[in-house]
Amino acid sequence: MDVKYDLEHIWHPYTSAINPLPCYPVASAEGVYINLETGEKLIDGMSSWWCAVHGYNNPVINAAMESQMHKMSHVMFGGLTHEPAIELAKKLIGMAPGQEWVFFSDSGSVAVEVALKMAIQYQYSIGKKERCQIATIRSGYHGDTWHAMSVCDPVTGMHSMFQKQLPIQHFVPAPQVPFGGEWHDEDLEPMRKLVEEHGKELAAIILEPIVQGAGGMRFYHKEYLKGVSKLCKENGLLLIADEIATGFGRSGEMFACEHAGVVPDIMCVGKALTAGYMSFAATMCNQEVAEGISKGEAKCFMHGPTFMGNPMACAIANASLDLLTSNDYGNGLGWQRNIFRIERILARELAPLRESAVVNDVRVLGAIGVVETKYPVNVGEIQKVFVKHGVWIRPFGKLVYVMPQYIITDEQLVALCDGLKAGIRYLEQV
Ligand SMILES: *Cc1c(COP(=O)(O)O)cnc(C)c1O
Repeated sequence: MDVKYDLEHIWHPYTSAINPLPCYPVASAEGVYINLETGEKLIDGMSSWWCAVHGYNNPVINAAMESQMHKMSHVMFGGLTHEPAIELAKKLIGMAPGQEWVFFSDSGSVAVEVALKMAIQYQYSIGKKERCQIATIRSGYHGDTWHAMSVCDPVTGMHSMFQKQLPIQHFVPAPQVPFGGEWHDEDLEPMRKLVEEHGKELAAIILEPIVQGAGGMRFYHKEYLKGVSKLCKENGLLLIADEIATGFGRSGEMFACEHAGVVPDIMCVGKALTAGYMSFAATMCNQEVAEGISKGEAKCFMHGPTFMGNPMACAIANASLDLLTSNDYGNGLGWQRNIFRIERILARELAPLRESAVVNDVRVLGAIGVVETKYPVNVGEIQKVFVKHGVWIRPFGKLVYVMPQYIITDEQLVALCDGLKAGIRYLEQV
């Protein structure tokens, strides 16, 4: 592989053209393994950024993709429809609490853009034109496109240099009481105050329910989410749940909102939806939002991407959701008990790291294991250790974390945690 060409001409996520981090050449991937061209076989600890939950080269999804490919790879969604989209809409609406309408798009960031547009167009359509701003909590991540970026944490989101050009949004401090901790009502105070002061200008509050992912890998208390939902209802704001990272079981509930029994007005899903096969996402909303928008001045919702409802992506998502909800799920456990299996092993294997001098915190929720270090880690250096120990883990900042695939076996998961521990031991020595 011409890795030198890559280094000199291809941008990678959040990396430099002058001093890029090295990239490992991948020849193939199978099940939980990423096979490097140089011969190493790595247990995937990232699910390729939360999406490849059923393993690479999955025969069931391959078959669904191939079968759809021979029928049609794509048709425009304007004025045309097809079975894979209808089937997927039925599945999603059947699973997601309170959602009645689906807007299919091409990536998570776009799904967030669509959600923000829906919220603002809804308020406009029902005559609340002054409600055109969005509020959110710090440490959040909602994607890299323009308006998605405007609701990412301004510091950890690394978007500060665009600040002047971004719409002004309202940020309140991130919730402090952790998931499972002892609830204090003061945690909600900043949000209450914001709604009191600016409620009339706000169209919606957007947040990642329970798990804040790329903005800090934080797990917050379900009472916080309940409280935000109540504030929204009492003050005419919509609640947008960004479930792109958490959706489809990752946190131990099918959707993280369900930890709190909260029903959002608008919900974004992506990532695991297509199991790492294609870029695809959806924005769902309730009947009230859909009708509000459609009765307004524009009489329709103003968005329609070229690849909307792509049949290949829908067919893949259908196969992926079938795999997720089918009872045997590879080991006969069913999706939820399978996630609890992963959670138990992560908790047991990572707990000893709390004693490490370089570790600040260890936290586990569902199939997410986070080791927060005291100082930011050198990604390039620690990755050499991980690769040497046969695992693929990509930390950011002080966060060394794993989000294993749902199909990982107990033995593979222990090996993954051993690899992570080798990385922490390395940090103890430098
Ligand atoms: C990844 C992510 C996004 C953005 O999705 P892309 O497909 O990368 O555009 C948005 N919100 C959350 C919570 C995410 O984790």
